[in-house]
Amino acid sequence: MFKLKWPQFPSPYWFNGRYSEHRGIVAEDGTVPVYGSALELLDGVMPPAGTEVIITPQRFHLDAETAEEVTARKAREAAEREAYQAQQDREYRDRQDKWQREAEAANALLRIPVRWTSGLKTVLSGLSQNSMGTGTNRRSVAHILLLEPLDAGTLHRPANSFLCTAESGTNGKQWTAQLHTLSVGSKGPYVSQITCRQCLKLASRWKDSDSGVAPELIRG
Ligand SMILES: [Zn+2]
Repeated sequence: MFKLKWPQFPSPYWFNGRYSEHRGIVAEDGTVPVYGSALELLDGVMPPAGTEVIITPQRFHLDAETAEEVTARKAREAAEREAYQAQQDREYRDRQDKWQREAEAANALLRIPVRWTSGLKTVLSGLSQNSMGTGTNRRSVAHILLLEPLDAGTLHRPANSFLCTAESGTNGKQWTAQLHTLSVGSKGPYVSQITCRQCLKLASRWKDSDSGVAPELIRG
């Protein structure tokens, strides 16, 4: 990078946006002819005659770089951007993996005696909160969706109902046909972490039992 002097009478081409980039070639006399003016060196070292330079106007001088330097700098910047993006992707995957590990560890503590998966309560009339993707699912409340009838003491639930919702309650036709949900990690889908307090509270009665059924991933 070196600096050139503004010419005494600068061409309007410097200012009117006709050229997105100002280029010149160093002449034998050590100036850079651009738009009819021979630009003189202000600071730094003028490259040899014949070198193509790219000029960036500043308030009191002109910055100049050889075209080669500019190409190299742009390549370097592109590589840096790529490396940054790769790092972001890696961090996002790590975060997804962490969420998945947390979900699996938490769900493993639940000892539900019948087949189950994670479910979302999405009302037919309401706006959909049932979209896949970790981000959404982490914000939504995931319930224990029973895939088989449950008869445990005073607790009775038909198949395809939420653990937290009694039969006489609001579990019924107002939910959309699809009750199950899943989260998507870097390696694929997995059963969402159960976050419904009521479901977790009801499930806590089986915590010490060994007879729990592992959560089942329902796709589609
Ligand atoms: Zn629930």
